[in-house]
Amino acid sequence: MGFIKKDATAEDFFVSVKERLSQNDFSFIEKAYQVSLQKHEGQKRYSGEPYIIHPLNVAYILNELKQDPSTIAAGLLHDVIEDTDYTDDDMTRDFGKEVTRLVEGVTKISKIKNKSKLTKETITAENVRKMLQATTSDPRIIVIKLADKTHNMRTLKFHKPEKQITIANETLNIYAPMAGRLGIYKLKSELEDLSFQILEPEEYQKLKQQIASKKIERDQFIETTKNIIKQRLNEINLDVQVEGRAKHFYSIHKKMKDKEKTFEQINDIRAVRIITKEVRDCYGVLGIIHSIWTPIPGKFKDYIATPKTNQYQSLHTAVIGQDGRPLEIQIRTLEMNNTAEFGIAAHWAYKEGSASKDKEQTVKWIEKIREWGGQNPNSKEFLDDLSHELHEDEVFVFSPKGDIYNFPKGSTILDYAFRIHTDVGLKAKGAKISGRMIPLRAELKSGEQIEIITDKKNKPSPLWLRIVKTSSAKQKLRQYFRKLQDESEIENSISILSLQKENDEVVSIPEKEITTKKQKVKPKSKEIKASILVAGIKDTLVRLATCCSPLPGNEIVGFVTRGRGVSVHKSSCPTIKNYTESKRIVSVRWDGINNPVPVRIEVKAYDRQGIYLEMVESISKTETNILEAGASSSGEGTLIARFLIEIEHLDQLEEILETIRHINNILYAERVIDK
Ligand code: MN
Repeated sequence: MGFIKKDATAEDFFVSVKERLSQNDFSFIEKAYQVSLQKHEGQKRYSGEPYIIHPLNVAYILNELKQDPSTIAAGLLHDVIEDTDYTDDDMTRDFGKEVTRLVEGVTKISKIKNKSKLTKETITAENVRKMLQATTSDPRIIVIKLADKTHNMRTLKFHKPEKQITIANETLNIYAPMAGRLGIYKLKSELEDLSFQILEPEEYQKLKQQIASKKIERDQFIETTKNIIKQRLNEINLDVQVEGRAKHFYSIHKKMKDKEKTFEQINDIRAVRIITKEVRDCYGVLGIIHSIWTPIPGKFKDYIATPKTNQYQSLHTAVIGQDGRPLEIQIRTLEMNNTAEFGIAAHWAYKEGSASKDKEQTVKWIEKIREWGGQNPNSKEFLDDLSHELHEDEVFVFSPKGDIYNFPKGSTILDYAFRIHTDVGLKAKGAKISGRMIPLRAELKSGEQIEIITDKKNKPSPLWLRIVKTSSAKQKLRQYFRKLQDESEIENSISILSLQKENDEVVSIPEKEITTKKQKVKPKSKEIKASILVAGIKDTLVRLATCCSPLPGNEIVGFVTRGRGVSVHKSSCPTIKNYTESKRIVSVRWDGINNPVPVRIEVKAYDRQGIYLEMVESISKTETNILEAGASSSGEGTLIARFLIEIEHLDQLEEILETIRHINNILYAERVIDK
C-alpha cells in the first residue's frame, strides 16, 4: 500500500477488489455498485461528472484501506438513502442490517455537523467528541466518513470560493484531526494538504516550489543514506526495507510556522524509514544506525515499548547525517508501518483466516472511543490525547458544569473568564481550581476544571490587557476602556464649564510649594507622556508631580500651575492636601491605556545564592521591562537590589512587589520615590 489512486475508474476499483476478496464478496460489492449506479442515475456532481464517480471513489479508498466487504458496500451506498428514493428498508432487504447501520451512521454524522456551528472559533475537541460519540457503535462509520470527506476535498475546486474556505476549515479542524486520532495518517495528510492548498494558496504554491527545487539534492542525499544503511545491515545479514520518507506539505508548513523557521532551516524534510521483519530487529538496526552516525541527544523515542494511544508504534531517532546535517530516522516492522499509515483501519483489515488477533485490537479501539465519548469527558486521558493529537499548541479546560473550552497555549485564567461571559471577565477576581485560589494571570493547563470567582465591585485594570492572550478577550477589554473613556469625556465636559468660570479667580500658589523636592529629579521624568484626561481639556500639558510620583491606578488630582499646565498628584499627597479647597484643583483621570512610567524599586534581602536572579525572574515573569538593575551588599550578610522598571499600572507594580516578597529571605520590597 502507500499511494491511493485519485480518480479511480470502475475498472480500477473492480480490479483491486477482485485481487483481495472472494467471489462471493465480489458479487456482493458489485450488486451494491449496480444499485448505487442506478439510483444516482441522472444526478451530477458539481464537476459535471456523473454522481457515481463519488461513491465509487469512496469505496475505492476504503478498499485501499483494506476494509471489509460491508464497509466497501456501505461506501458505495452511503448517499443513496439521503439523495434518492431508496429507503432504509430497501437497503436492509438488499444488503442486510450491517450495511444499513453503517450508512445510517454516516448520515448521522452529517446531521450533527450541520447542527453545530463549525467555525474556527468553535470548540474543535467538543465537535470531535460528539462525532465519536455518535459512532461509538462502530468505528467503521468514521472510516467511511473520512473516505467520503477525502474524495469531496479532492473535488472541492468546483464549489464557490467562500464555500471552499468553509469546508477546508472544517476539514482541517475536525476531520484531519479525527483521522489522526484514529491513526489513519494516510488520509490525515491528504486532508491537511488539500485544506492547506485552499486556505493558504500562496503559501502552498511557494512551499511546493521550494520542495521541488531541492528535490534532486534531497533525492541524492537519501539515496546515499539508503545505500550506507543497507550495506551495513547486509554485513550482519539483516534484511530490511529502507525508504525515503516524504513529509506532506502541511506538516512542513506547520513546523515552519510553529518554530518560526524558514524552509532552509527545516531539516527533517530529509527523513528515512527502515522497515524490519521482526520487532527485535528494530533495536538491532537502531544500534547500527547509532554506530554509523552520531545520535542527537534527546531525539530518541521508543514508541514500541510505549505505543501512542492510537496504537502507533515505532522507534524514532535523529542523527547527524553524512553531510553534517540532521537526519530523522524511523524504525518499525511492516505491521507497525501499516498501523502507522492506516491506524484503526488496519486493525480490522479484512484478512481471511487470520481475523482473531485483529478482532481483539478492534475491540480495544471501540473501548477507547467509548471512553472518549462516554459520560466522563473529564477523563484525563481523553483530554491529553485529544489536545495532543488535535493541536499541540492548544489547551482544553472545563467549566464546573463540565463544558469544554479550548484556548491557544499560553492563555490565562482571565481569557477563560472572558470566554465564559464578558461580565464574568470584567468582574473576575481570581479562580478556584480543585479548591485552590489561582490568580488571573495563571496559565491554563489542559484538564483543569475552573471556577471563576467574581466580585461586583471589581473593575478591570488596564494591566489586564497584558494578561489576556486571546484576541477576543483583548477586544472586550478595549471596548470596556473605550466606553469608560467616552463616559469620562462627557462627565468632564460638564465640569469644564464650571472650571472655566472659576479660572478668573485663580488664587496664586507659589510654584515651589507643590514641587518641593524637585531639585533631584532627572530631566527624563519630566518628559513622561502620561495618559491623563484633564477635565475635558484636550492637549493640555500634563506633568506627574515628582513629590509623590503617581502611577496609573493611583487616585489623582490635578493642580493648575501658572503657565506650566496641570501637575498631577496622588490625592493623598501631603503637598496638595492643604489646597484641596483651592479653585486650581481640577479633576483628572487616568486614560484607559497608559504609556509606561519608569518606577524605582528597592529590595532588601538576606543574601544567598541565586536570590538576585530570582528577583529579576519574578519581574520578567510579569512582562515588565527592566531599564536598570543593580545590587550591592549592605553588610551583615544582606543585599540591596535596585531596579528601574517600566510600569503601566499600579496593579502591575503591586503584583511585582508581592511576587518579590514571596521569595525566601526577602526583608522588604518597596517602591522608592525620588532617587
Ligand atoms: Mn458523500
